[in-house]
Amino acid sequence: MRSYKIAVLPGDGIGPEVMEAALKVLDTVGEMESVKFEYEYAQVGGCAIDETGKPLSEETLKMCQQSDAVLLGAVGGPKWESLPQDQKPEQALLQLRGGLGLYSNLRPAVVFPALAGASSLREEVVSGVDVMVVRELTGGIYFGTPKGADANKGWNTMVYERHEVERIARVAFDLARKRSSRVTSVDKANVLDVSQFWRDIVIEIHQEYPDVELDHMYVDNAAMQLVRTPKQFDVIVTSNMFGDILSDIAAMVTGSLGMLPSASLGEKHALYEPVHGSAPDIAGQNKANPLAMIMSVAMMLSYTLDMGNAGAAIQSAVSEVLEAGYRTGEIYQDGDKLVSSTEMSDLVIKQLIQISARVA
Ligand code: NAD
Repeated sequence: MRSYKIAVLPGDGIGPEVMEAALKVLDTVGEMESVKFEYEYAQVGGCAIDETGKPLSEETLKMCQQSDAVLLGAVGGPKWESLPQDQKPEQALLQLRGGLGLYSNLRPAVVFPALAGASSLREEVVSGVDVMVVRELTGGIYFGTPKGADANKGWNTMVYERHEVERIARVAFDLARKRSSRVTSVDKANVLDVSQFWRDIVIEIHQEYPDVELDHMYVDNAAMQLVRTPKQFDVIVTSNMFGDILSDIAAMVTGSLGMLPSASLGEKHALYEPVHGSAPDIAGQNKANPLAMIMSVAMMLSYTLDMGNAGAAIQSAVSEVLEAGYRTGEIYQDGDKLVSSTEMSDLVIKQLIQISARVA
């Protein structure tokens, strides 16, 4: 029997609740596909600070490095907000990215037909949207030196090295091949030298992918276009800071934070987590929407464990449950069927079993 070692980091707030829901779905996949998922649990974030004094211990990082993939719930909460910046729970996320070499962040923004009315944009603008934002995660202005501030000025430096742009461009082109074969590279090449450099390298790497269409867009225009006609995009590839902003815009097109999964990939390691935070306002109440975490598991199956069919089946199960009118509180509208977090994951599991029976 094939077996995979999964590092499970539930974290704080609703993290443990959505993680439990998602692992039930993964267990179902394991049974259906005769694959064994071995879970190794560790604390991360605020609960790890309480236990060990650090948001991420060396042992936990090592455990993650030795796993086939890492699943993370969410970290943070009011209890740890007054800690100095470098000791906060969120430091765990940066340390994991660094320690696992996760240089690309993939954030799909998919509008499910059943939720097209939940977006703040008009239904005809958002229905059918399926965008993948590929953000460079370990370089650019967030990490460049020199940086600093004194009483009279503050400064940061945006630097990209050739190999950093080459590898993120390849991630985007490879992904596009599995989707609609279109990549939009977003930069600010009309103003920034580093962006012209980025653009030149993306064009160079594109030679290896003649079957994929490439275009370029300035970041200010891309922000506008994402809100105006989000359907025009397939894969967007961009630098760290631009990706930070554009992925949030793309996310909001879909209408709910509880519906957004993400993947962070490196050469050797991969981490999957929902985009949302620890939602302390609803923690412990069985109200959290587990679908972002469940779809993060689907991404793990597709991108790391070579189980794309199972990943797609989860995605279909989620879509069909929404189509049948079931909603957790934050996406509930009049006429919907309100369900708890655990009811939602049970419904997805039931649908997943039905889908596999249909296929068989
Ligand atoms: P948040 O994403 O936790 O919550 C924002 C709002 O969305 C809240 O009203 C919350 O109830 C709702 N929400 C979020 N996820 C939901 C879900 N799955 N189901 C239903 N409703 C959901 O953002 P915040 O309130 O700004 O931050 C809370 C804590 O989380 C902070 O400590 C913050 O630093 C941390 N945070 C962590 C991550 C992470 O772990 N990756 C990301 C963002 C924020």
